[in-house]
Amino acid sequence: MKRTIALKLNLSQEQSDALLETQKVFAKACNQAISFVVENRCWNRVALHHLCYYHIRENIPSLGSQMVCNAIKKVCSSYKVLKIKKSQNVPTIKFKNTGSVHYDKRTYSVKDSILSLYTVTGRIKCEFITGDFQREYLESGAVKEAELVRKGKVWFFNLVLDFPDVEIKKEGKIFSVDVGENNLATTSNGTIHGGGKLRHKRDVFLARRAKLQSNGSRSAKRCLQRVSGRERRHVKETNHIISKQIVMEAVESRAKIIVLEDLTNIRKRIKGNKRMRSRLHRWAWHELQQFVEYKAEAKGISVKYVNPAYSSQTCSKCDSLGSRHKHLFKCSNCGSYQHSDCNAAINLLKLGESVVSSTALVNVPMVAVS
Ligand SMILES: [Zn+2]
Repeated sequence: MKRTIALKLNLSQEQSDALLETQKVFAKACNQAISFVVENRCWNRVALHHLCYYHIRENIPSLGSQMVCNAIKKVCSSYKVLKIKKSQNVPTIKFKNTGSVHYDKRTYSVKDSILSLYTVTGRIKCEFITGDFQREYLESGAVKEAELVRKGKVWFFNLVLDFPDVEIKKEGKIFSVDVGENNLATTSNGTIHGGGKLRHKRDVFLARRAKLQSNGSRSAKRCLQRVSGRERRHVKETNHIISKQIVMEAVESRAKIIVLEDLTNIRKRIKGNKRMRSRLHRWAWHELQQFVEYKAEAKGISVKYVNPAYSSQTCSKCDSLGSRHKHLFKCSNCGSYQHSDCNAAINLLKLGESVVSSTALVNVPMVAVS
């Protein structure tokens, strides 16, 4: 299993200039290889290497030998994705000076928080910024190739990490997670994630945003952008923390499947006043589910999406319709009171169990009775 993480680089002006120059020279090398590709209809890495390596080395002596190999690799993979047929002409593609630079394990190294990178003016060592989850990845995966990219004035090192494949669990329980409603997420065990404190922080963001939006000045707009960026990062970080806790709980509960709700209808489902809706909707539900999905995968737990029609209005004890008042679900049929999010999570679990058992039945070979 491969994952890519983006490391934001912390560079001095001098280092940034060295990368700019490297980017330019790398593009030049790629463009020189292109004529060999077109002339010889060749985008096989080894064959192209034989055709153009010495030519490029002679013409661009400032680019190190391993970097020339990386340029050839980049050109070959760019042509491979074009899927050119035998009857087609080979197009001449052009690499821009602002394009990404391919690095392999010989042209970079990572140690602790320091990245060492090849440049045409010598190796540079720089710090990079990571979040908790990226750090976790770096510690557990094997580093592979990478692409150096520039976005505006900021440089990123998009690093590919390889993780051992995990065997999918065949035995175990079913576990469900309901997102939204009063809290960010509620599991079928009854654990509630992201209640009070996080919601408060979110309200602070929203209040500030509303204030800035009503004030139309240019400085207010700039400030708004800054707030949005910070808010996005906060949401993402929170989703990482919560998804990690959810998957840990699933592992401890010996789950083989996590049931999640198909979110297509969530906007319709969540009721409340306007302020409540905007608070809930803007939270990245989809992102939270995705994080749960890949963190679960890494533990061998599968994820199944189901579409519950009335999970928040149905009583999880007797299946009749009840009524919800914020945190409380009340069933007039059996007379039970439940936490409304927990009730929804258990409904999701029951639906998941029925979906899983019905697919299991389909997979059992039918034996004819004679
Ligand atoms: Zn009931």
